[in-house]
Amino acid sequence: MTDTWAISGVPVQIRRSPRRRTVGLQVRPGEITLYAPARVPLVTLREIVDARRDWIAHHLEQYAARPMSPWIFEDGGTLLYLGETLNLKMVPDLRFARREGGDLLIPPGSSADTARRVERWTRRVCLPPYQQLVLGAAARLNATAKLGRVQISGAQYRWGSCNAQGDIRLHWKLSRAPLDVLDYVAVHEAAHLLEFNHSRRYWALVEQVLPGYRRQRDWLKEYGHTL
Ligand SMILES: [Zn+2]
Repeated sequence: MTDTWAISGVPVQIRRSPRRRTVGLQVRPGEITLYAPARVPLVTLREIVDARRDWIAHHLEQYAARPMSPWIFEDGGTLLYLGETLNLKMVPDLRFARREGGDLLIPPGSSADTARRVERWTRRVCLPPYQQLVLGAAARLNATAKLGRVQISGAQYRWGSCNAQGDIRLHWKLSRAPLDVLDYVAVHEAAHLLEFNHSRRYWALVEQVLPGYRRQRDWLKEYGHTL
């Protein structure tokens, strides 16, 4: 029995809640959680887990293959920036981080210092490409007239936002995601210029412009924490 309730050595935790109406499954690194309504019998929950065994195992494997934060902020480390891999190079007597071809030159420092410098550099350089992306997304949606300003955000737990004035903000860390994921967030926010909600009509708009958007959305859910 215990064997059934562990997948790839990770135990399945059941969280019941009287307010829940459906069963939900969440897989995170080293963690499988099954959210269930109060009255669903255990045998049904087992069936649900068994039916998704391969899917769960696959996700756990992917987590194992991908470190929590793939960035090594030291000399010789690498950084993804808008789909390009940059090499981090410590250069003495340098005052600010600066890009030179495929290298990102940074003043020497601890890995925390370097992480901060890389963040500052990223925030400084990613605005123009973000603006272009959002403009492109708004144009594909025929929503250019409603677009306000494009800004960089560092918000926790949000990759992007769109306010009533049509200002769109995208997280600076998205510059480390695959380009199509960044594009998805740009389209996601630009679609809010037309539909200020997540209704069916809203998702239909997103799908019109980006038919495969679910793949990018799932990527963010699974790997967003590694950015
Ligand atoms: Zn949204």
